[in-house]
Amino acid sequence: MSKYARASTWQEVVRRPPRKRSTPDPYRGHLQQRWDEGQHSAKILHAELQAKGNLGHYQRVKMAVAPLRRGLPLDEPRERPPSPREAARWITTHPHRRTPHINDHLPRLLGHCPELRTAHDLVRRFAAMLDDRDATSLPEWLDDLANTGLIPLTGLARALREDRHAVTQGITTPYKAAAVTDRIAVMYAGTIVELAPSEGLHRTAQHPYTAGLLRSRPAAGTRARPVGLPGRPLSAFEAGPGCVFADRCAFAEERCRTDRPRLEPHGTHLVACHHTAELTAAGSLLERTP
Ligand code: SF4
Repeated sequence: MSKYARASTWQEVVRRPPRKRSTPDPYRGHLQQRWDEGQHSAKILHAELQAKGNLGHYQRVKMAVAPLRRGLPLDEPRERPPSPREAARWITTHPHRRTPHINDHLPRLLGHCPELRTAHDLVRRFAAMLDDRDATSLPEWLDDLANTGLIPLTGLARALREDRHAVTQGITTPYKAAAVTDRIAVMYAGTIVELAPSEGLHRTAQHPYTAGLLRSRPAAGTRARPVGLPGRPLSAFEAGPGCVFADRCAFAEERCRTDRPRLEPHGTHLVACHHTAELTAAGSLLERTP
């Protein structure tokens, strides 16, 4: 737990420790020399390394000289490859914000893997469109994405083409969902709990879950801390006969646990809650501390 409490970024939590050097690594020169001199007994070589201060196990020495027995050179000390998550972070980090570690490792990684270089170049070109808020080169970018020959990227190109209008809006405007859709449906445990006009939903949420979602997001330009919802998310298969949100709702009453609320109109919203009228009459749900 202390590891999670101390971490200031998610990368610190998921970072794996670097591979430890194998104990015979510093003695590779000696092993090679003795092997060339005809000493092929791992037991004797281990004893020699012990005399030189190596406290490693016999098995390590045996494994270290195994390539020599097969007529191969001694293994080079291996560098731990990055995890997929690490590689994705290196690729998506803006070049101006890359650390010396990324600047050192990323070019070598891309040099080893042409597919990753292709993905990297496409990511940077898309990022440039976002930086410039200019989608002029989107069609050409989608063509290149579709022609990579990499199945996941081809599928992504197909999906983005189907939603091209939304993608263009997302690139060229500072607004997101509200710019491309008139209404937003908020779902919990597979059930729509609120359906409302996109414009202004962040101020006029009427369902306790919608309000909880909005309170739990970081707000730009403020130091206010997001407030998480209590409890754990429910799957659609766990929902009982009552309101799907009852276990986590601060306003739940007995009826909420036995009687599933229907989606009903309240002003311009459709809301599935037994208490919408009382809750909204008392002021904006977003400003109320549950
Ligand atoms: S019906 Fe009850 S439990 Fe469900 S959201 Fe409304 S107040 Fe909360």
